[in-house]
Amino acid sequence: MTDQYAVFGNPINHSKSPAIHRQFAEQTGQDLHYAKQLVATDEFVKAAHEFFKQGGKGLNITVPFKIEAFNFAQQLTPRALRAGAVNTLAIQADGIILGDNTDGIGMVHDMHNLGWELEGKRILILGAGGAVRGILQPVLAEHPAQVIIANRTFAKAEELAAHFQDLGDVQAKSFEQLDGEQFDIIINGTSASLSGDLPPLPENLLNTNAACYDLMYGAEPTVFMQWAQQQGAAKIADGLGMLIGQAAEAFYLWRQIRPEVVPVIMALRRQLNEKK
Ligand code: NDP
Repeated sequence: MTDQYAVFGNPINHSKSPAIHRQFAEQTGQDLHYAKQLVATDEFVKAAHEFFKQGGKGLNITVPFKIEAFNFAQQLTPRALRAGAVNTLAIQADGIILGDNTDGIGMVHDMHNLGWELEGKRILILGAGGAVRGILQPVLAEHPAQVIIANRTFAKAEELAAHFQDLGDVQAKSFEQLDGEQFDIIINGTSASLSGDLPPLPENLLNTNAACYDLMYGAEPTVFMQWAQQQGAAKIADGLGMLIGQAAEAFYLWRQIRPEVVPVIMALRRQLNEKK
């Protein structure tokens, strides 16, 4: 029987995961089927149990179930444990369900594909929600000089900085406290872009040759990307490559084969542009 995979979320209609995994499977000659499944908000555990009982091999998990998936997993990778959230579940040969979080490593791999180095860099991360929690461990593993987390609700930035401080120099600041600071890389992990908003950022935050990355992606540059352009950023990218990067890491966990991400990023970018 063909191995079964799926993405669980609510809403789920917009999900690009089936298209991404179909392309990975074609590219690597893997026989698998990948579906998207709308799960009622109070039925995640039931649906996940059912999926694995029916012989399903692996799941991707998206909003709003990443914390429930963390609790559902019987074993966790170190990065999932740190993130406190799971976006990938895999049934192992011994029947134990492993939970992983591939979002952060997906972003770091995308930055490497773009030719961005994080080692020795001063990095500013905007936001302190679930996505930022997921990227901090993989970012700190690259040995940046320092990571500053700035968030509208300062207490959340402080909590995250404390949670990750054993992994490197990571500190919390409010947006006002950024005045006079300069960074090599700024990552926008707020959901402000979704509503066309921008966190209140001071001028002159960027060092020469600075890079700006928005976790959000779309057909048009986000407000953060437009700001980066105005501020003279040398390199600017959105989160489409992160989306495909996290999928590639999940695929690797399931199939032990690393797919090529670049052709898939190009295909999805073409599709986004055609819909403009
Ligand atoms: P959360 O809801 O967990 O966190 C949202 C964060 O944004 C909080 O820090 C919140 O601040 C901040 N925020 C929201 N609105 C504003 C605003 N108007 N001004 C300043 N700060 C604001 O969301 P997630 O962490 O799950 O997602 C964040 C973004 O990352 C989304 O755009 C999402 O689409 C994207 N993402 C992309 C992925 C990819 O693969 N490319 C993967 C995962 C996420 P406060 O704490 O004060 O409320």
